[in-house]
Amino acid sequence: MARDIIDDRLVGALHLRALDRAGLARDPALEHVAYQAGTLSALMDGAFDGDLALVDLLRHGDLGIGTVAGLAGELVVIGSDAFVIEGDGTVSRPGPAVTTPFAVVCSFAPQHRFTVNEPTSLGELRTRIDAVVGDPAVIVAVRIDGRFRRLAMRSVHRQHPPYPTLAEVTAHQTEWQLESLSGSVVGFRFPDGVAAIDVPGHHLHVISDDRSAGGHLLDLEIESAVVQLDVSSDLHLELPVGVVLGEPGQADRATIARIEGQHAG
Ligand SMILES: [Zn+2]
Repeated sequence: MARDIIDDRLVGALHLRALDRAGLARDPALEHVAYQAGTLSALMDGAFDGDLALVDLLRHGDLGIGTVAGLAGELVVIGSDAFVIEGDGTVSRPGPAVTTPFAVVCSFAPQHRFTVNEPTSLGELRTRIDAVVGDPAVIVAVRIDGRFRRLAMRSVHRQHPPYPTLAEVTAHQTEWQLESLSGSVVGFRFPDGVAAIDVPGHHLHVISDDRSAGGHLLDLEIESAVVQLDVSSDLHLELPVGVVLGEPGQADRATIARIEGQHAG
């Protein structure tokens, strides 16, 4: 469908490779390659079912974020384990047959590492990550392990067909704050110009060390932490049914979904 044609600039910049189901079987986890199931534009339109099982997603990476079928919470993949933070904040371990309509993972092999030993805001953290990486046109996988003075998070409640749009769901999201938490923040920084595929900028999820709390990160203040970054310029994308991949040089065909504010993936 025309509305899901993907931004051609991204295709050129990111060595984006679309996979079909046959491609899935040939594409095991690779270092410095991000793997994505679904697109943000499809998710925004209410395509919440998904048909990629988490067990298959985990074959493509050991760290990542996303959501699960029915938009039933925030997905965290860390150390090859998957966790779902549900709409009421409960953390569960999804079974391998649970599917995802939207997720990004990578085989985490960090090239950059730095420590934070003073109170640091989310804005300061983003600025430092961007400075360490340098190139704004690459994908950056982020893992932050440490102690957090404050974490503001949110999640969403499971939806049932006929599905509403993502904007309608996030209008009813639940938000909460935790203080003095030890845990990990994981996710990705995507380049500008990816709005149809993914969330431009930093998109991070939280999981506590005891795996009892987490969510989609809204804000944080770090007490002390180790930040690790894995930079990749390749994105392997499993296209949902009906999505057409644009070709370089045909930018007039591109339609980019505009995203304002936070999304629920
Ligand atoms: Zn999210």
